[in-house]
Amino acid sequence: MAGVRLKASGEKIARVSDGRAVSTICWFDYFSLHLSHRTVKQLALCVILLSMSLRSPVLSHAARAQQNGALADNAQVREALNWFANNLDWINEQQIRLTEIPAPSFQEEKRAVAVKELFAGEGLVIHTDKIGNVIGELRGQNEKEVVLMTAHLDTVFPPGTEVKVRTEGDRLIAPGISDNGTGLAGLLAIARAIHAAKIQPQRTILFAANVGEEGEGNLRGMRSLIEAYRSRLRAVIVLDGSGIDHVTTKALASRRVEVVITGPGGHSWSDFGMPNPINALVRGSVRFINTRVPATPRTTFNLGQVEGGTSVNSIPHEAKLKVDLRSENEDEIVRLEAALRDSFETGIKDEMDNVRERSRGRLSVKFNLIGSRPGGELATDSPLLTSLRLADDAVGNQSRIERSSTDANIPMSMGIDALAIGAGGNGGGAHSLQEWYEAAGRETGLKRAMLTLLGVAGVAETPGQGK
Ligand SMILES: [Zn+2]
Repeated sequence: MAGVRLKASGEKIARVSDGRAVSTICWFDYFSLHLSHRTVKQLALCVILLSMSLRSPVLSHAARAQQNGALADNAQVREALNWFANNLDWINEQQIRLTEIPAPSFQEEKRAVAVKELFAGEGLVIHTDKIGNVIGELRGQNEKEVVLMTAHLDTVFPPGTEVKVRTEGDRLIAPGISDNGTGLAGLLAIARAIHAAKIQPQRTILFAANVGEEGEGNLRGMRSLIEAYRSRLRAVIVLDGSGIDHVTTKALASRRVEVVITGPGGHSWSDFGMPNPINALVRGSVRFINTRVPATPRTTFNLGQVEGGTSVNSIPHEAKLKVDLRSENEDEIVRLEAALRDSFETGIKDEMDNVRERSRGRLSVKFNLIGSRPGGELATDSPLLTSLRLADDAVGNQSRIERSSTDANIPMSMGIDALAIGAGGNGGGAHSLQEWYEAAGRETGLKRAMLTLLGVAGVAETPGQGK
């Protein structure tokens, strides 16, 4: 009970002083106050830390180190931390096995089944939701509050892509090996380490392997998870790709548009002079790619996929183009989308102005919104970011804040604390056939992710499992 009271007072103070420092108190509170035989000592320490937080806006390094000590002092947490280094081969094997199960967006079922089987060995209550997310639940003492850790199942690679993992020295090479083979292996490893150490969290932890992160999946898996758990959700940690050098706390807004131009179609020789949808698409594309975009706020576009026509000697009846628009500022996206529409409408006009016979049909254009990812930001003084920073300190890491488009966009845009991090090791060539991963140092990334998770979920006291 003392823990509860102190937490409440910490939260009260959060409204009148610097959030980061006070959130840190809450973090500390989750871990240690519930170890009752240490309560008195820790209460005293908490009071010291609370007074420090009122004095200085950011907790000193020494104070943070002391709090890390509180977590690392927990024998079960230590055991879970040690689990990674002792099971690196198992983690590598799962990453390779899962990567070799093709999982294009909307076709993740087989890989999902494999994850489900692995979750079954991790003491989780498992279910698959209606759109295919696999969710493993680790009940906390407080089931009313939930922390979600996710890794997306899907890849950008179409069916038929060779996904066999090749090894070159320490390097694993295969499409999807890092994005998101690393995240999935990390999710499984963290769940297994916590299970092996018999840790019961205070808040319920949901481990979810979710569908539909990439491309036209449009974050549908995460949208569904948020919808299902929103009222109980306190934090979301997304494991995406490799590395420990960054933390994504800013959600990059994006919009994806499919441009579809249609016309009558005909024979290349006998119907020459008829308006041609591909011509119009090319004319519109040339106009659009000359659109100026600002360097700040960084704004980008990509003509990513084009299709149309039936044969070389036919005037096509349809041409399609998929375009990705991104910006640090949503206003720029709106501006860019307007430029896109304008360019293709003008492209059609240019084509019609050049056709020999206007009576031979008209062209029309449709713009289909195929993706829209909202922007958002995690508050710098949020308990979740504080927990990540403390985890960084604990593993001797420094990471930079990044803006990116990930599953974390959805919770962030709704004001739910969320961030995305890599799950350790090194990777590169994401979304290419040469994608690679090197597992050296992976355990640091896994420790960092697990400490961040336990920092926001809290560790319950288990009789006989204390220090
Ligand atoms: Zn990814």
